[in-house]
Amino acid sequence: MVFQGLADRLQQTFSKLKRKGKLTEADVKEAMREVRLALLEADVNFKIVKQFIDKVKERAVGQEVLNSLTPGQQVIKLVNEELTELMGGTQSKLAISSSPPTIIMMVGLQGAGKTTTSGKLANHLKKQNRRPLLVACDIYRPAAIKQLQVLGEQLDIPVFNMGDKNSPVNIAKAAVEHAKHHGNDYVIIDTAGRLHIDEKLMDELVAVRDNVSPDEILLVVDAMTGQDAVNVAESFNEQLSLSGVVLTKLDGDTRGGAALSVKSVTGCPIKFAGMGEKLDALEPFHPDRMASRILG
Ligand code: GDP
Repeated sequence: MVFQGLADRLQQTFSKLKRKGKLTEADVKEAMREVRLALLEADVNFKIVKQFIDKVKERAVGQEVLNSLTPGQQVIKLVNEELTELMGGTQSKLAISSSPPTIIMMVGLQGAGKTTTSGKLANHLKKQNRRPLLVACDIYRPAAIKQLQVLGEQLDIPVFNMGDKNSPVNIAKAAVEHAKHHGNDYVIIDTAGRLHIDEKLMDELVAVRDNVSPDEILLVVDAMTGQDAVNVAESFNEQLSLSGVVLTKLDGDTRGGAALSVKSVTGCPIKFAGMGEKLDALEPFHPDRMASRILG
């Protein structure tokens, strides 16, 4: 499970704290030193780790905590609260347009899970009795169009496709018109990815954005890539002003640093987590539940 290493270490640290009963300032400092190491090992951005530890320490050495009957529990509660805050506080829901269709543009590097996540998201919406339309805008890889079509067939969700002879801007615009005429209340645009960020890709994504004014621009990032995922998110956000992030492959044994850093570094909330290859393996991201999972 993602975060297993972090969870194991924190739980170990905290069971020591709990056993102690009364705590001194030195005990709290020692525990925070261990939390700091655990977070760094989980690949959390070091600046964020520092801020996090400073915050918890400041709150934890207060007399209220140290003099309480269960100081260990109080410290754990603080860590839980701050971890939740770090991951965005409350759950950040998908936008909904007051004049349908709601347009969701999916962006990300090749291999991050963009096409799969587009399908999963459409499936998620369909289960809520929505009528999503998937749009194939990755014109550079014929296989990507095919992949989306196959997903659409599996899920019984329509896929809008104009082949690879039209520009992504034209395809996206035509898809929105199509949705309006066919009662689709969500349009999910699967855009092209590259192995690395390049200017041409960004220009194209900006052009699509400017032409269809999406309600959501969701960046799909692979949590397995650790801090790289955070750097990718920063770059995409600078150019496109993202509305949210989907972290994929959280089912793997990733160290989890990306999940803990991305909101704080980019300001973009994590809206969903990909938990597997299957088409129902997408979960709305709940910071509080994730924090509780880490702390056991
Ligand atoms: P794209 O190039 O960004 O469109 O990436 P794809 O959607 O083709 O996904 C790349 C690979 O990642 C595929 O083998 C997917 O099955 C896999 N994948 C996507 N999301 C997840 C996830 O949440 N967990 C796991 N384990 N695999 C995933």
